[in-house]
Amino acid sequence: MNKLFQKDIIFVILLALIPLILTLIKGSGKYIEVVIPFVVLMFFLPGYAIFRAAYPKKTGYAAKIVVGIVLSIVILALLTSTTNPNKIHMKSLIQTLAEITLFFAVVAYIREFSGFKNKENRYITCKSCGGYYKLKEDESLDDFGACRCGGELKYAPKYFKPEK
Ligand SMILES: [Zn+2]
Repeated sequence: MNKLFQKDIIFVILLALIPLILTLIKGSGKYIEVVIPFVVLMFFLPGYAIFRAAYPKKTGYAAKIVVGIVLSIVILALLTSTTNPNKIHMKSLIQTLAEITLFFAVVAYIREFSGFKNKENRYITCKSCGGYYKLKEDESLDDFGACRCGGELKYAPKYFKPEK
């Protein structure tokens, strides 16, 4: 599951890089032969990357794709709303969208990556009895009410090591 996430972010980065590179190596206005990467960039990638950066997990792929499309259209509308539709400069629009996508994809990647490290060794402990529980990757303190003894639970400090 998490491996899959890393792959999809790398895929998003590649999909954003392709149109960005195309705008850099080609003259502006000759995009008809490479229209698919541009459509994907305009209507999907920025929103997907932003949603990924904001919510690294806990949503299914279908939801991410729908939110990605909706967010992308909102971003596109915001970027173009101040410009006369006839005067929109495709090249700079594509580059702006690619930069937004790349920025948030990198944020998502870093968040996920640091998440891996932190999640390997997370414990919650009881303030009253000293009992502890090792959290699974997708669990957090919020998933638990109180300790069996009735005591309040808290995150163990990072250096916490249970006695074996
Ligand atoms: Zn307890």
